[in-house]
Amino acid sequence: MSESPGQKNSPTLLTPVQYLKGVGPARAEALAELGVHTAEDLLNYFPRDWRFAPEPTKIADLRKGQTVCVIGIVEQTDYQAHRKIPFFEVMLADETGVCRIVWFHGKYLINQIEPGQRLAAIGTVSEYKHQLQLTNPRFHILRADEPQDIEAFSGPVYPASAKLPSWQIKKIIQSSLDVLCEQLPEFYPQEFLKKNDFCGRAEAYRQIHRPENEAQVHQALRRLKYDELFLMQLGLAVRRHQMEHQCRAFPMVWTEEIDRRIRQRFPFLLTEDQETVIREIVQDMSRTVPMNRLLQGDVGSGKTVAALYAALLAVANRKQAAMMAPTEILARQHAESIERYLKGSRVRRALLVGGMPPAERARIADELRSGQIDIVVGTVALLEEDIAFADLGLAVIDEQHKFGVHQRAQLRKGAAPHCLVMTATPIPRTLAMTVFGDLDVSVIRHRPPGRGEVITRWVPPDKRREAMEFLRRQIQAGRQAYFVYPRIEGENGPEENGRRKAAAEEYHLLSKTVFPEFRAGLLHGQMPVEEKKQIMAEFRAGRIQILVSTVVIEVGVDVPNATLMVIENAERFGLAQLHQLRGRIGRGQNRSYCLLFSETDNPEARQRLEVLTRTCDGFEIAEEDLRLRGPGELFSTRQHGLPDLKIANIVEDFDLLTFARKNAFELIRQDPCLTRPEHAALRKALIERFGAALGLADIG
Ligand code: ADP
Ligand code: MG
Repeated sequence: MSESPGQKNSPTLLTPVQYLKGVGPARAEALAELGVHTAEDLLNYFPRDWRFAPEPTKIADLRKGQTVCVIGIVEQTDYQAHRKIPFFEVMLADETGVCRIVWFHGKYLINQIEPGQRLAAIGTVSEYKHQLQLTNPRFHILRADEPQDIEAFSGPVYPASAKLPSWQIKKIIQSSLDVLCEQLPEFYPQEFLKKNDFCGRAEAYRQIHRPENEAQVHQALRRLKYDELFLMQLGLAVRRHQMEHQCRAFPMVWTEEIDRRIRQRFPFLLTEDQETVIREIVQDMSRTVPMNRLLQGDVGSGKTVAALYAALLAVANRKQAAMMAPTEILARQHAESIERYLKGSRVRRALLVGGMPPAERARIADELRSGQIDIVVGTVALLEEDIAFADLGLAVIDEQHKFGVHQRAQLRKGAAPHCLVMTATPIPRTLAMTVFGDLDVSVIRHRPPGRGEVITRWVPPDKRREAMEFLRRQIQAGRQAYFVYPRIEGENGPEENGRRKAAAEEYHLLSKTVFPEFRAGLLHGQMPVEEKKQIMAEFRAGRIQILVSTVVIEVGVDVPNATLMVIENAERFGLAQLHQLRGRIGRGQNRSYCLLFSETDNPEARQRLEVLTRTCDGFEIAEEDLRLRGPGELFSTRQHGLPDLKIANIVEDFDLLTFARKNAFELIRQDPCLTRPEHAALRKALIERFGAALGLADIG
């Protein structure tokens, strides 16, 4: 190993790991693969677990009731499959004796523990038939290249790689831990730490990597989680502050006459929720601080109507409005419904999507730039560089969760329009506070009246036939049905063995065998756009009764006569996604039925499906989904342009999150650019961790 002793004596947080004690070029490379480049990265490479083993006890000294650590050689193993409770048995020997170890249901150990291995077992000594034994102990197999003592299995356990086992990472970190921790600046005043029972920052790092007991791990984690959440909230607070103060939006004038003219476009009375939301929006838009509002509401709750109100308010103020949707289907649908409401009005509107004829696209681009278009609806095509506005007053972004934070900023086109973000995925409070933490939130909870109810049922395999007959009667009575599958074509993986239903195959089966008397159509994401449009048009016109599809229909289909939905392999979808799919029916006067087909016997999967049969409240479902699946799967913060949280969990650490948020927003009120000297360390950490993602490189 080539080493540079000069740097080794006094590493700083910025020292490349290669120059740390015990690391050379080869290990530095292995560390780089784990994302660790500097000494500071190394400090932030947190253990995934901690173990506390008592000092090893010789087998001859074991006493009943003690919690011990025994190290020995595996002499014999046996799996007793035919016992009432099957168990895996090991005879472990050291130089003083032999001890029996039993793991109930230990079939999984057959391939792990073998005679000749050196094994450490940690557990409580019990007595069975006058013999001392360990039952279900934790264990660790000591590999030949590991330290052969307690060091190998106590203390922190790091996420390892093939090149770098956990114990080596531990050794590297331990060698430099104290000297590095000394250099970590504290973020908060002493009295804050004291009052809230937080340990110091340096202490937290020392304890996370070298705890003496569980209590220290807990204490360190609490502090480090707080820091992580606090920095994120600080970033959101700064961004919020920047949006409010760096740019001035046009304050929209609202008069009763304008209001009357807008309302006469809607062939119905607005619901109470719509009224509330519109009041909030009008209030926001009347200020010079740009509106940054998230509008949540289930599919069909009437969000688009509220957004159109806002757009027309902008137009009444001689400003332009842009509405961006995540898919072409959805953009077209918005355009169509806006067309319906604005029929005969002088408001000039346009649709801009990808793949338009170049001449048409150029014409729309020109008219947007010259201000001849008032309202434009489109897809991400709106973000392209050559699309500019004469005077953009309002940007509406639908289905925000499909877009990143950056795109939200991009649609502002460098100007400061008011911004309304709409989502049909109800967002639990926790997530609203993180990924949308810089927005105000409005909610539409109740749907407009006159909508049919949706009844949701879980259909087990033995009820399938019955369910199909029910569907047949409904379709014969004039209704239409969606059949949704997780994928397009079968992937005949050995375990799956065709159990997972594929849309293309099922389409043939359904149309030829099950429902030969009806017309079916197939729709999936990889089809040419023209063909998709064709199929959709036929379904809308009622010429096709059964639409077989993958989740492409998730957004953007509105056919009131379609009151039936079958979701195959329902357990494969997330709750929120199922709920959103279900929002495609229940759009007309008739009662709708959503049938969840699932053969799963996994209790957790069943529990999830049952939530849907029980409630139609999107928020309840979202909270439940988050609780059951954790935030990682449902919403990655990275997907929203924020780095993933490394140790904090927004569900489990909700109280800490709330506290961090309150403190962060308060701090930014007092020191908006974090320029006070006592905030220098925070500012640096903020820029390093969240700066790029939040566009804060320029603060101060
Ligand atoms: P979302 O955008 O939330 O999916 P929309 O605004 O598209 O909901 O409205 C869904 C349907 O409900 C549309 O057909 C719309 O015409 C209708 N609708 C909206 N608001 C009302 C209302 N206040 N009363 C009756 N129908 C309404
Ligand atoms: Mg909508």
